[in-house]
Amino acid sequence: MIRISAAFDGGNIICDDCRAPADIRLRIRPDTNADFFQWFYFRLNGARDTDCVMRILNAGAASYPQGWDGYRAVASYDRQSWFRIATDYRDGELILRHRPERDTVYYAYFAPYTMERHLDLLACAGQSPLVRHSSLGLTAHGQDIDLLTIGDAGEAKKSFWIIARQHPGETMAEWWAEGFLERLLDRADAVSRALLENACFYVVPNMNPDGSRLGHLRTNAAGANLNREWDAPDPERSPEVYHVRAKMRESGVNLCLDVHGDEALPYNFIAGAHGIPSWNATRDRLLTDFKRSWQQVNPDFQTQHGYPIARKGKANMSICVNHVSEYFGCLAMTLEMPFKDTADRPFPEVGWSPERAKRLGASVLDVIYRLFDRL
Ligand code: ZN
Repeated sequence: MIRISAAFDGGNIICDDCRAPADIRLRIRPDTNADFFQWFYFRLNGARDTDCVMRILNAGAASYPQGWDGYRAVASYDRQSWFRIATDYRDGELILRHRPERDTVYYAYFAPYTMERHLDLLACAGQSPLVRHSSLGLTAHGQDIDLLTIGDAGEAKKSFWIIARQHPGETMAEWWAEGFLERLLDRADAVSRALLENACFYVVPNMNPDGSRLGHLRTNAAGANLNREWDAPDPERSPEVYHVRAKMRESGVNLCLDVHGDEALPYNFIAGAHGIPSWNATRDRLLTDFKRSWQQVNPDFQTQHGYPIARKGKANMSICVNHVSEYFGCLAMTLEMPFKDTADRPFPEVGWSPERAKRLGASVLDVIYRLFDRL
């Protein structure tokens, strides 16, 4: 008998019918208290060596239907390595085709980063003498809003903020953060050591623990899209932003990188804060140099493709990087990574992957090092 389940950390699927392996009918469950959906993550048991066709019937009504074009779902037997499987998007349905080689297989929109792994990440980082781990507050469901502080704060030190996964379905953001932290905490890495002599890093690896555990695409438990809450965060509706923003005001911010994934574009790119009132030529040059430098140290990053640039004064000030750049007068950037693959240097077996996201996260330290004096 075939069984489909998703009642686990980060799981999301509704099974309408799984009696026939060639006609498994599924739907993605929308975020709690919101209409967003696209993230899926489920388990299939009982179809070893059987051709399965799994149709996600409501894919056409997902938040970013253009994200399905050229997209392939990921699968894993051991929950460690994730590979891509045959996937079509037709007539508003996402069709996954796979012949499992084991009794149990997991499928997802992207390699999951569970809350259990998040706790492991914090515990692992916490073993380093360089790290202070603190809880800035609690989410609606009572989960901690975790901050890792690396290095010593001080008058002469710069404050660099890295936040990831405001949108919980963008799990590549926390994989990125894992790679970033591993390198920053590597005492054999001269760039990391040099940076920590003159800067303190504030890292929030997961801005949205409730959404992550609930298997949401975009919002927290209250249905708040956290990246539209930065101008006036409400402590009840968006405690995640409220507490992080308060801590930023205490520490000051010299650089902020907000890490995301984009459903549609097969590229790694940065969106800047061009549309804010205080945008000027100096910050524009700094942003250009940051992007160019990143492309030089990691060819998985590129500068040709990205979002349209907002005109000065037209920025949505409820977006994190716009708020932070305006308030602190610093460089603040949104990093977007693909769910699909990179068009410039594709890797068909895995597409964009945890390993590649981690390398990209590690490589940004070279960029920060190069531009340090200007940040
Ligand atoms: Zn996002």
